[in-house]
Amino acid sequence: MTLSEFELIDKYFRGRCLDRSDVDLGIGDDCAVLSVPPGMSLAVSMDTLVSGVHFLPDCEPSALGHKALAVNLSDLAAMGATPAWITLSLTLPGIDEMWLEGFTGGFLSLAGEHGAALVGGDLSRGPMSVTVQVHGLLPARGGMRRDGARPGDAIWLTGTVGDAGLGLEILRGRREVGVEASTYLLQRLERPTPRVLAGRALLTRAHAAIDVSDGLAQDLCHMLRASGVGGCLFVDDLPLSTSVAEALSPEQARRMALTAGDDYELCFTCPQENVRGVRRQLADCGVRVTNIGTIESEPGLRMTDDTLSGDWWSTAGYRHF
Ligand code: ADP
Ligand code: MG
Repeated sequence: MTLSEFELIDKYFRGRCLDRSDVDLGIGDDCAVLSVPPGMSLAVSMDTLVSGVHFLPDCEPSALGHKALAVNLSDLAAMGATPAWITLSLTLPGIDEMWLEGFTGGFLSLAGEHGAALVGGDLSRGPMSVTVQVHGLLPARGGMRRDGARPGDAIWLTGTVGDAGLGLEILRGRREVGVEASTYLLQRLERPTPRVLAGRALLTRAHAAIDVSDGLAQDLCHMLRASGVGGCLFVDDLPLSTSVAEALSPEQARRMALTAGDDYELCFTCPQENVRGVRRQLADCGVRVTNIGTIESEPGLRMTDDTLSGDWWSTAGYRHF
């Protein structure tokens, strides 16, 4: 027997979500009613994943559930916001309960890890797509923006870049690596870790931040432009995982690190006097952090390796239009 839309919502969403005292009314009415604590501001972000564009139609449902939320939490992380509430709009070609079970498993377990409550959403029939909106809390009018980088700041990056890009090549059968490397790289592609704790730790220390979703060079340039500054990247210091360093030539690895998307690391700038504090804080969060460049007053992005100069990368990062 197939369940009605309302039975499906009850079974898979309502009652399986975290309780939060600031949710006055959750799933089940026309709206959710939420209370922003006094002295706090709300940070809101939305992302859509479309089948065939952002994920392959045969993508494992629990990985898709995880990723749909992770990419949104990554945006909150880049602002230094603490996740609070989530809404989810699902468009599905039909009802497959096995699929829903997997999807909600991946989605709700990541939500639970971050203490965020699913408070509402929508369900409709059509080509598969997943839209998630996240709501996070910040100290009033706070938040790390893209436009705060200043000449003399150090440019930093959490984790490693290029992993998801190489993972995608493996998924597409364009490259082969050993089992261990392949497991690691596919995990990085399909189940990214949003750097929420690191973002919160940076809130009072960084001048500017952005999450790396479309490729490091492209995303860093958004920050440089918004801030009205330029920068120089130390390409020899780009943090690479062992899997990327072993599978690719140094030249290929650098290009991958600069242009591949989907790593969801944080790129941020901070003044030299905050460097020690940043290192200590991020070590406490268990996050690796690397100084990858400096902010300069002359606009544009330069590289310490001349063979990588120019803006060749500007067409290499992902663009929809
Ligand atoms: P309405 O027709 O009044 O907009 P819906 O039938 O779309 O209401 O949804 C009924 C309730 O279930 C609402 O509270 C809505 O937020 C919630 N809901 C619908 N789809 C989802 C979903 N995918 N995830 C979480 N909550 C959902
Ligand atoms: Mg509705």
